[in-house]
Amino acid sequence: MLVVMHATATQGEIEIVCSVISDMGYSAVPMPGEQRTAIGVVGNDGRVDDTNVVGLPGVAQVIHVSKPYKQVSREWKAENTVVSIAPGVEFGGTNIVIVAGPCSVESEEQILASARAVRAAGGSALRGGAFKPRSSPYSFQGLGKRGLELLALAREETGLPIVTEAMDEAGAELVAEYADCIQIGARNMQNYSLLKAAGRLGKPVLLKRGMAATITDLLLSAEYIIAEGNSQVILCERGLRSFDTAARNMFDLNAVPIVQKLSHLPIVADPSHGTGRRDMVIPMTRAAIAAGADGILVELHPNPDRAKSDGAQSLYPEQFVKLMHEVRLIASAIGRGITPAVGTDAVESR
Ligand code: PEP
Ligand code: MN
Repeated sequence: MLVVMHATATQGEIEIVCSVISDMGYSAVPMPGEQRTAIGVVGNDGRVDDTNVVGLPGVAQVIHVSKPYKQVSREWKAENTVVSIAPGVEFGGTNIVIVAGPCSVESEEQILASARAVRAAGGSALRGGAFKPRSSPYSFQGLGKRGLELLALAREETGLPIVTEAMDEAGAELVAEYADCIQIGARNMQNYSLLKAAGRLGKPVLLKRGMAATITDLLLSAEYIIAEGNSQVILCERGLRSFDTAARNMFDLNAVPIVQKLSHLPIVADPSHGTGRRDMVIPMTRAAIAAGADGILVELHPNPDRAKSDGAQSLYPEQFVKLMHEVRLIASAIGRGITPAVGTDAVESR
């Protein structure tokens, strides 16, 4: 339930509504807006009886949130949430953000070459896993803390902010010391203790949809993060397991307009994991931008044939140049631009 106060409501009236809500056994979350204050009611599982609240002085309207997720929903907040991971790198505004880099950080040489390629082509942020959730325990598990240090080095040289994955609650704190945005991977979308920890760390979170998760599941997982007081959440569609083995996953671009209808949070798409095949990454990037994605998370490697993970879906640097060119064209066709590369003031094609 959301209690919308009149623009003229006094602080005292707002406080009375909050105390009535807590007497009912729920928590009140006041959200001051430009025009008026709204007070969210959390802690309920089902419809809240509003009879004690509707008649209180200063109350303009009571809105019942019909979805199982609350603070994530558009009913709760009508305007888009814009998530900033670094100055000028914002998800959910007019501009589209391109995050690119290798699946895993492998060496200083590899991550610096990747970062330079991302920067040179006009990408806005660097991705790369230091802690890797691999299906097999015998596959490369990532460089751990050393990988984070190498990402920080790449950021220092190129200015690109870093998106990197935290795999568990204990590791999240360490990742937060280095990352500009903490990625929670598909395999961990329903790791509730990790979600809560990420909510408490207060850093932007990129939450990937689980490979067999519904959109409601994804939004409920985002609710865990917001419920801890962190509304800086970027959602990510990365493909679903399906019966068809022609591509690695079924890239569900329906999720983009559906999520935008249901939630105020930004949503990006990952055509690398969504397809698993380098030759499909550019076409499906085009499709994701056309569908309205707020950004793209894409894998690139200076030498994909030698990559320690996900080489088959990693772009060659020259392919990334082509991808950026095509993204610009499609973005401008739908009235959007690309976040200018770090260190430039130019606003590219709108
Ligand atoms: C990744 O981004 O490299 C990754 C492991 O992705 P996902 O969690 O979507 O499989
Ligand atoms: Mn990967």
